[in-house]
Formats: sequence, structure tokens, C-alpha cells
Amino acid sequence: MNSVLETDAGIDAPPVSVDLTYKTCPQCGAPVRLLPVPSPDAVRGTLWSDGYLQSPDLPELPILGKCRACGAMGHLAELPEMAEPPPPAPGIDHTFAPLTLDDYAALLENLRDISLQFHAYLRIRFWQLNNHRRRSDNDPPPLSEVERDNLIELLNLLGDADADRLITAEILRQLQEFDAAESVLTGSFGDQVSPIAQRLRELVRDRRAELVKIYEHEPR
Ligand SMILES: [Zn+2]
Repeated sequence: MNSVLETDAGIDAPPVSVDLTYKTCPQCGAPVRLLPVPSPDAVRGTLWSDGYLQSPDLPELPILGKCRACGAMGHLAELPEMAEPPPPAPGIDHTFAPLTLDDYAALLENLRDISLQFHAYLRIRFWQLNNHRRRSDNDPPPLSEVERDNLIELLNLLGDADADRLITAEILRQLQEFDAAESVLTGSFGDQVSPIAQRLRELVRDRRAELVKIYEHEPR
């Protein structure tokens, strides 16, 4: 799989189950609690056209976050394991705090030596977080300059796995590059995502560029 979305809870994410364990903040040594992530099939949710799965059952995915004790940013997979669980501390939240839009903007301004997948992940999250203000708005604002620039950069980072092609088509649609979106959607897609591709084709055909809900579903 070459998908940059493998680790996200959106399109094409494989079922994941993580036991409740602790890692350690490398900065201050505080415990960082990993949340169990339910399989996307098992949750209520709304899949949006930018790949964001909005669900009351899914936590904001803490791949990147901030230690609540000292504020240090980290990548959950890279934190050292904690040898023993910490003593119970009622009322203290040891989970990673999700990064804010400003945090993502700061990371994107200072990329340094970053892998392509991680870079794409940052840009997808930046896009999705910016779109949050459109998810409950009947009169959503147009893309800002910063958002457009982010999407254009992101296009260069996506591959040809199904999930990447869907995201590519969606970006082109939101940028109103409908002919280019159409040609990305011309090829075939795997069974699991072909209904999503079909929905995007209809939106492109109708020359609609706004963020939309792809589907809402109940647990299987
Ligand atoms: Zn810390």
C-alpha cells in the first residue's frame, strides 16, 4: 500500500485496534496515554469529501499531538514506550492534546527534513482542520489563499493508490479544475472506494466545488 492515508481514520483506513498502553513524553517524562481506536466499520460517522471521518465515537486521531504536561509536540509512534503503567491519577488527562491549526501552520512553515508521507499527512490535516468551519455552515467561505497554496503543494505529494487518487480528484474539484478532476476519476477504483469515486464524478459533472458529505453511516 502506498496510500498516505493509511494511518488516518478517513478513506481506505484499515481496521485498527490498539491496546491501551502508555508512552513517555521525551521532554518531561510524563505518561502519554494511547487511546484505543475503534475500527471505522464499527463507528457512526459522516465521511466528508476531503476524507475526514467525523464521528462521535472516534477521538481526533492523535498521531501528532502535544504533551498536556509540558506542551512539547511529538509524533505518537516515535515516543518511547513506558515500561510500567503510571500509578492511577484520577482527574488527570494523560492523552495527547490534538494540534491546532496554528500548530500545523507552524510545522508546515518549518518542514526541514521530512518524509513525503509525513509531509502529505500534515497538509491533509491542515486542509481538513481548515474545513471544519465549513462542516456546519450553510454558506461556507471560499478557499483562502493559504488553503489554495496548501492544496497545490499537496497535489505534488500524492501517489496513485486509490485513496491518493480520490484526494487528488477532490482537491482538483475544490480548486475548480473540473476537467483535470474528471480525468483522475476516469480510471477504475477498488470495490471499497468505488462508490466514493462515483459520488465525486457526479459532483464534478455538476461543476460543484464545495465540500460535501459523501455518506453517513451506522456501525455494521
Ligand atoms: Zn511533556
